[in-house]
Amino acid sequence: MSCGRHIVTVCTEHSAVLDPCHYLESLGFEVTYLAVNDEGLISVENVAASLRNDTILVSVMAANNEIGVLQPIAEIGQLCHDRGVYFHTDAAQAIGKIPLNVSEQNIDLMSLTAHKIYGAKGIGALYVRRRHPRVAIAPQLHGGGHERGLRSGTLYPPQIVGMAEAITIAIAEMSTESERLLELRSHLWQAIQPLGGVTLNGHPSQRLAGNLNVSFDGLNGDRLLRALQPVVAVSSGSACTSAQATPSHVLQAIGRSDALARASIRFGLGRFTTLDEIETVIALICNTVPLLRDR
Ligand SMILES: *Cc1c(COP(=O)(O)O)cnc(C)c1O
Repeated sequence: MSCGRHIVTVCTEHSAVLDPCHYLESLGFEVTYLAVNDEGLISVENVAASLRNDTILVSVMAANNEIGVLQPIAEIGQLCHDRGVYFHTDAAQAIGKIPLNVSEQNIDLMSLTAHKIYGAKGIGALYVRRRHPRVAIAPQLHGGGHERGLRSGTLYPPQIVGMAEAITIAIAEMSTESERLLELRSHLWQAIQPLGGVTLNGHPSQRLAGNLNVSFDGLNGDRLLRALQPVVAVSSGSACTSAQATPSHVLQAIGRSDALARASIRFGLGRFTTLDEIETVIALICNTVPLLRDR
C-alpha cells in the first residue's frame, strides 16, 4: 500500500462520505468525484481510469440512500484489490437488504448503521479488514485504547447487541422481504404511471427493493409533499439534508433539472409497509397530482 494522498469517490455519495472528503481536501488530499450515468451508476472502467499511483482509497457506496441504486461493488473491490488500493463501502443502506460479503466482494472497510434496519439510533459499525490486506487505520478517538486502540471510550453493550440482533433479523428475512417489497413497489409504480409526466429516478432494476424515487413533471414538489405527508412519511431527496433548499445533488448528478429534482418524491417501503398503505398512497397521488398540476 502506498502512502499517497489521492482518494476516489462518487458524486452521489451520502454527505457522511462527501463531507469528510471535502475536509481531507482542505488538509491537502486530492479527491476525484466520479460522475454517474443517467441511471445513477458508475462503471468499473470509470473507477479504473481514475486510479493513480498515489491513490490510497476508493470509497463507493453499496446502495444509494436517495435513488436506491446498487453500485457494482464486487467488481470495484476486485479492481482495488488487484491495484493495491483500499476499498471502502458505505453500506448503511445495503446491510440486511442485499447480500454483502467482505471476502467475496473484496471489501477492506465497510461502514454500517443500525437505524436503517430498525435498530436503535446512535450505533454504527466499521468493518476493518485485518488480513489480505491488513488495514491500518489511525485512531479516531484517543483515550483508553478500546477496540484495539482504534476507538477509545467505554462501549454501550445494549446498543451493540441490539444492532447485531437487527442485522440478524434483517438477513434472515432478506429474501422473502425483498420479494414482498418488489411486488409492492411495482404495484405503486405501475399505478402512478398513467398520470403521465412521471420519471423514475435511478436504474429500474439494479436498486433496493424498497426504494422508488419519482419525478412529477410540472409539479411543485413541496406542495405534493405537504399533501402526502399527513398520510404517509415520504421525503424529497435525502432525509438527512431535507432542510436544505438546494435540490438533491444525486438527482442533479443523474441529469434532472432543478425543477424536476424539486418535484421528486422518494418512497421508502419497509418491513411494516402493507398493501393497504400502498393503495392509500396510490389513491392519494392519483387524486392530488392532477389538482396540483392545474394550479
Ligand atoms: C443514513 C446513512 C448514513 C448516515 O448514517 P447515520 O447513522 O444516520 O449517521 C450514511 N450513509 C448512507 C448511505 C445512509 O443512508
